[in-house]
Amino acid sequence: MDHTVNIEHVLIVRYGEVALKGRNKPYFEKKLLARIGDVLPEGTSARADGGLLLVTGYDPAREDALARAILRIFGVSTVSRAWRLRSREMKDICAAAVGWLDPRIQQERVSFKVFGKRADKTYPVTSPDLAAAVGEAILEAFGEDRVRVDVNRPDIRLTVHLRRNDVLIFDDAEKGFGGLPPGTNGKGLVLLSGGIDSPVAAWLLAKRGMRIEAVHFHSYPYTSKRAEEKVKELAEILAEYTQSLRVHILNLLPAQEALAAACPESEMTILVRRMMMRAAELIARREGCAFLITGENLGQVASQTAEALAVTDASSGLPVLRPLIALDKVEIIERAQEIGTYEKSIEPYEDCCTVFLPRHPVTKPRIEAILASEAKLGGAEVIDKILAEVFATEEVFEAG
Ligand code: ATP
Ligand code: MG
Repeated sequence: MDHTVNIEHVLIVRYGEVALKGRNKPYFEKKLLARIGDVLPEGTSARADGGLLLVTGYDPAREDALARAILRIFGVSTVSRAWRLRSREMKDICAAAVGWLDPRIQQERVSFKVFGKRADKTYPVTSPDLAAAVGEAILEAFGEDRVRVDVNRPDIRLTVHLRRNDVLIFDDAEKGFGGLPPGTNGKGLVLLSGGIDSPVAAWLLAKRGMRIEAVHFHSYPYTSKRAEEKVKELAEILAEYTQSLRVHILNLLPAQEALAAACPESEMTILVRRMMMRAAELIARREGCAFLITGENLGQVASQTAEALAVTDASSGLPVLRPLIALDKVEIIERAQEIGTYEKSIEPYEDCCTVFLPRHPVTKPRIEAILASEAKLGGAEVIDKILAEVFATEEVFEAG
């Protein structure tokens, strides 16, 4: 068969919610294109083209990798790998469709359906006629023993999208995560542990366009260097979505030791959490983050009762976002598996929260009692001094 038609490989990138943004659309589109530009190889371009975003000029051998990278960008709803034809002659369109289908037809007889889409209404052939003509050409080229039309449940759905200056041929699109482009919704600092929850919390807010930075607390030498490595590896996985992720790594031990020496053991969990939030708030303000983000969830563990969450909240002067608050653990795990953090998260390394763990933690702390315990440390200046000690241990890790 001779299907010598000049075609070019292109990726069609569609953006769901971004398209709904009315007058802000150019802003969101620009942000999305900038992020797509980050993952493109040299010489490749991405631009808005007739309501679609088209990526052109890449080596077809790299199409898979490129499509996968783009599907991970927030704001992208779907990607189609397409052939683009500059000619709009019916015979060229038919020949291209046949050539496109050829490698997809194996031993088995396959069923197909053609969708015609005439975006340029001045073109003399209507959408249904376009579909019919291409379908006939396919039947003729391959024969009824190799292909058949099935309008209900076809194996292959082929769209012929006729536009003002070109024709795009493609099959079912692959789904991205949707959401909003990076950098369109403020900046938050995620408290990143090595657990299952906090990476998912970070991912969910990044998906809504929030720029993310992270802070991790360890209690070296009570916690191991390997536990810290694990968090860095989790940050690398998140950076596959956010492109980069800066992690501030701090030793919380000075705060834990001071609390253990002065305060009731049963309150250690909540007292440590409040210190964590204070330290995180200082980093957030320094780094221009207007929010703290945690993987907390209502009722999951003793430190996450409604009362404990309220007392934790009261230690922070910044709004605390808890995107997992109402999810069940199975839902969080499913998401962690989907985004690829789960396997890393379940590696068994200790967390700083497990150091100085009380035998009988209070599960319904009252703010008055907790403030009274913190007063035993010796006042605000002492807390500042303790935090300064924690800060002196800061290391910065750049993932991505
Ligand atoms: P995760 O699975 O995220 O560790 P968790 O269910 O184990 O959460 P906690 O240990 O109570 O719950 O922690 C609640 C939240 O506090 C975490 O989701 C995270 O945001 C933050 N956090 C806990 N430990 C650390 C840590 N070592 N460094 C930074 N943040 C932490
Ligand atoms: Mg944890």
